[in-house]
Amino acid sequence: MTSTVPALVTPSASAPFEASTVEVRDVGAHDVQIDVAYAGICHSDIHQVREEWGPALFPMVPGHEIAGIVSAIGDGVTRYAVGDRVGVGCFVDSCRECENCLAGEEQFCLKGNVPTYNGRQYSGEPTYGGYSRRVVVDENYVLGIPEGLALDAAAPLLCAGITTYSPLKHWGAGPGTRVAVVGMGGLGHMGVQIAHALGAHVTVLSQTLSKREDGMRLGADEYYATSDPETFSRLRGSFDLIINTVSADVDVDAYLGTLRRNGSLVFVGLPEDAQTFRVGSVIGGRRSIAGSNIGGIRETQEMLDFCAEHGIAAEIELIDASHVNEAYDRVVRSDVRYRFVIDTATIPAS
Ligand code: NAP
Ligand code: ZN
Ligand code: ZN
Repeated sequence: MTSTVPALVTPSASAPFEASTVEVRDVGAHDVQIDVAYAGICHSDIHQVREEWGPALFPMVPGHEIAGIVSAIGDGVTRYAVGDRVGVGCFVDSCRECENCLAGEEQFCLKGNVPTYNGRQYSGEPTYGGYSRRVVVDENYVLGIPEGLALDAAAPLLCAGITTYSPLKHWGAGPGTRVAVVGMGGLGHMGVQIAHALGAHVTVLSQTLSKREDGMRLGADEYYATSDPETFSRLRGSFDLIINTVSADVDVDAYLGTLRRNGSLVFVGLPEDAQTFRVGSVIGGRRSIAGSNIGGIRETQEMLDFCAEHGIAAEIELIDASHVNEAYDRVVRSDVRYRFVIDTATIPAS
């Protein structure tokens, strides 16, 4: 059985959002029903709505930065109770038995995890995300949002937060390490705060200096414009770790040149096209190119607790449902400071 829930729906690729409805399943034994309060707009939502990563499933209700309140639970639920503040990130199920699931890295499930939207449950039902008044999710894929975090500013942590926290931890960002964050957008502004809280020396590489003041306030030690022809020569051999959040093509060789010996350039931004590099750029200095994808459930909870402890959250522009189309265009123009979050109460009941 399902119920009909107000949602922002895009009927086909690149079509504007319409206030409509979506069918949400009734609560099963292990399910948590969440009244969505806030949903962040991730650049990945835009890539998928516009089919920049290949064919997508329509109608689509995006949203994988979800924060809300538990409004019902199934009989078998033990982790959450009605009234709890909770979040949902980029996936809502996984096989639970492959080596990656067993390691708590469900983002790399070998069977393929179930994406929060633009995907299918293992039963074949399509999934719908957080631009909606309600979602129903298995309790094992729901996160607890600590009391110290405001729900609206916490929503973006469910993707932008974990996507930067996970590689920073994996590659050992901390005291004595030099970290660069490329792109001062949704992911980038979280990466700066988290890397700073971990104790790393943080440099932002942005296209211009227009967000410099914000970057320094959020914890950057240095800030450079990639449009300045001298930036890359000045920074040769500087960084142990670069987290590249750029959603478009980058000059990979130029960034590799700014790594110290044994340094790593880690892609989290996922552009449409293949990126190329010269082999000489990694041979010199024994450098690595790597990638990272969100994080597992256990690490996502760890990240939320870390952010609460360190007073870290997203800087957001809270918008009504009627402004989502315009917000998409602004994100693409790098004109967001630093995450749009939809107040889902403004999705009209039709
Ligand atoms: P965003 O808010 O749009 O931020 C991207 C930033 O990249 C912009 O603010 C801009 O920073 C910079 N940028 C944009 N276009 C550029 C260009 N043509 N050249 C150079 N720099 C450019 O996007 P986001 O939500 O942070 O997501 C960023 C990327 O990460 C997207 O591709 C998204 O799909 C991907 N993503 C990956 C994961 C994962 O798990 N790996 C998770 C979430 C998102 P400046 O203005 O400072 O230059
Ligand atoms: Zn995302
Ligand atoms: Zn698995």
